Amino acid sequence: MADLDLEGFWKEALVQLRTDLGEEAFGGWFSDLKYIRAVFDEATGKGSIVIGAPSTFIRDKLKTRYQKEINSRIKEKTGKDITVEYEITGKTAKKEAVQPQSPSKNEEHAVAEPAETHKTKKKRDKHSQMRDDFVFDRFVIGENNSFAANAAIAISKNPGKAYNPFLIFGGVGLGKTHLMQAIGNYIYDNSENEIIYTTSENFLNEYVQAIQDGKMNLFKNKFRNTNVLLIDDIQFFQNRDRVQEELFHTFNALLDAKKQLVFTCDRPPSELKKLDERLRSRFDQCLKVDLQPPRYEERCAILRATAESRNAQIPNEVIDLVSKNISSNVRDLISALNTLIAYTELMGKPITQEIAQQRLKSIFYAPRQENLSMDKITRVVADYFSLTPNDLKGKKKTQNIVFPRQLAMYIGREMTDYSTTELGQEFGGRDHTTVIHSIEKIKEKMLTDPTLESTIDIIRQNIKEFSAKY
Ligand code: ADP
Ligand code: MG
Repeated sequence: MADLDLEGFWKEALVQLRTDLGEEAFGGWFSDLKYIRAVFDEATGKGSIVIGAPSTFIRDKLKTRYQKEINSRIKEKTGKDITVEYEITGKTAKKEAVQPQSPSKNEEHAVAEPAETHKTKKKRDKHSQMRDDFVFDRFVIGENNSFAANAAIAISKNPGKAYNPFLIFGGVGLGKTHLMQAIGNYIYDNSENEIIYTTSENFLNEYVQAIQDGKMNLFKNKFRNTNVLLIDDIQFFQNRDRVQEELFHTFNALLDAKKQLVFTCDRPPSELKKLDERLRSRFDQCLKVDLQPPRYEERCAILRATAESRNAQIPNEVIDLVSKNISSNVRDLISALNTLIAYTELMGKPITQEIAQQRLKSIFYAPRQENLSMDKITRVVADYFSLTPNDLKGKKKTQNIVFPRQLAMYIGREMTDYSTTELGQEFGGRDHTTVIHSIEKIKEKMLTDPTLESTIDIIRQNIKEFSAKY
């Protein structure tokens, strides 16, 4: 390696390219690029500059349309054989929302024309039901979620008109709640509209309470007169017949009045088998968008953006390490990052790759493993508590068995692709709601019992070792 100032050359090349290409092209394709790093090998005289592009769309455009110009300017500046490579840094949805630049017009899922945003004179107090960090500004758009995010942005600018009703579905931790609340927060900040955010459990609880208190009118008034209704995790309405009926009427009343409805669900609505047919077909007629797990590039972009928003310095090789090891969902990715940020804050120094590896050992060692059978998990958990697998699969409800059984279900859900129904079958033909309940119990216990997390870490490690051997 030598001290060839490739960053400096890149900047000079940019200045030149601006003149070559003109303001319009330059502004559309080059203005959001970021220098990331460069390597140069003196021995071979070859090197590369790595540039961060905000989206794969822009990267592809640069490669197909402008690569020749870029290469020739770099060659001219450096006199060496330097290639330019790209990494996707991601752009946040807000950026896209406020500047639908010319390139995005060509994109397959272009953002709808922005409506006049009606700025309120006085900023309202924080909305009591929504998180203020679940905003577009903090939502990284990649190929896995660009359709969903662009639809959400369009809705925010034109509630009740753009896409109504709207339904976001996808697995755990992929950003459904974030995106839904981003819509809510945007409308809340830019209009006088009333917005209700609720989970399906909350909706159900309020409904039951209203019946008990003889205040159904108040309940109806509240939900049927809002401008925007956001209901999170509608899969929990399954098997709740009476509240489904109420929801059906709320749905129709709001839609008739052209009020915006947004729902999230952990699966496509057609798979909500325990939902009344009329309601299911209502959900099925929504504009449905799904969120896919982020790919490597998107995971890096999310980590970079999140670190930046917290003013934390996380070196590239650590971002790479985390992105390579955690692939299932964004929640796990961010919780790993939080561990690292806490470390840097406490120690007052940047994290190294070795320390990151050490700190995140337990997370890295618990990835979903293909071919990991529930039998192995049950066996290891039973062993740990000096029980037999049959104890865990059997009917006994003594505390010494109930807790390990719940834990085995929790770990099974985490480390395998078994559905809750399949897990129920593994555990003596139990119902999937029992499995869901057990998993919830463990999560609750983790909040109050700090040792549980490390118990789980140890068991995961045992499972990993056991499964490597057999
Ligand atoms: P879900 O509701 O699908 O289970 P959440 O919306 O709660 O998932 O997201 C889990 C975590 O991941 C949250 O902290 C959220 O901010 C974060 N997250 C998800 N997707 C993104 C994204 N595209 N950009 C930034 N953060 C994201
Ligand atoms: Mg959620």
